Amino acid sequence: MQEKIIGIMSAMPEEINGVIRLIENPESITLGKRTYICGSINGIKTVAVFSRWGKVAAAATVSTLILEFKITESLFTGVAGAILPDLKIGDIVIAKRLIQHDMDARPLMQRYEVPLLSKTYFEADQKRLENVSARLEAIIENGQLTSAIKTIERDAFQITKPNLWIGDIASGDQFFASYEQKETLHNELPTVHCVEMEGAAVAQVCYEYDIPFTIIRTISDTADDTSHFDFPRFIQSVASHYAVAIIVTLFQKNETP
Ligand code: SAH
Repeated sequence: MQEKIIGIMSAMPEEINGVIRLIENPESITLGKRTYICGSINGIKTVAVFSRWGKVAAAATVSTLILEFKITESLFTGVAGAILPDLKIGDIVIAKRLIQHDMDARPLMQRYEVPLLSKTYFEADQKRLENVSARLEAIIENGQLTSAIKTIERDAFQITKPNLWIGDIASGDQFFASYEQKETLHNELPTVHCVEMEGAAVAQVCYEYDIPFTIIRTISDTADDTSHFDFPRFIQSVASHYAVAIIVTLFQKNETP
């Protein structure tokens, strides 16, 4: 059997830097303007990298992880803007399915369908989904997820006990920062929980190479006119701690997603 090698990507440098500090015997390799950190976490071979932003960047990064670093599964942590009204800043969404909201090859295909794959949604592996959600639920319950976040920051973002959601995520090469953009997406794709810029690209490449993927997003903003507000502060004081807590729990006891 092929040895398990997990590729971890984050869309914010602050998040991946925290994860990199968990890597034992790190070795860095630079390729295509990205630095891949290879080593292990809890005895499991790992390669961590900042994906950069957008679908092309993420697709190139995950392809390199698959082809150069021979990963056998991929894990993505990042932030996203909330689309469903019940989602709050600090909540977590685990992707069940991913869709590219800016894919539109009509009249050749139906809207959102990825050309030549006859696919609109890329589904996450159900068993991993269950495992990941159980582990995240546990660290939400026992307070581990938020324990490293200063009270002042928690208060600033009104984070009490985060909610965990499992649902659809939409990705595209747009930062959502207006009520109008948000409303349009919500009306067109009502099952979409949150929006970001990389997940569905990673999911497509993983689907093409038959590599299981897990995509976990922390809600950083409400994808409307307020979404640029305090973004850097949120990443620094909340999302980077979440990323570390998530990776620590997923790599526990040699049982990974
Ligand atoms: N404004 C930020 C740039 C972040 S780019 C800054 O100044 O640092 C946005 C990143 O966060 C992408 O990786 C994307 O996946 C995610 N993201 C968070 N909120 C988003 C939103 N409202 N719309 C689209 N992507 C979002």
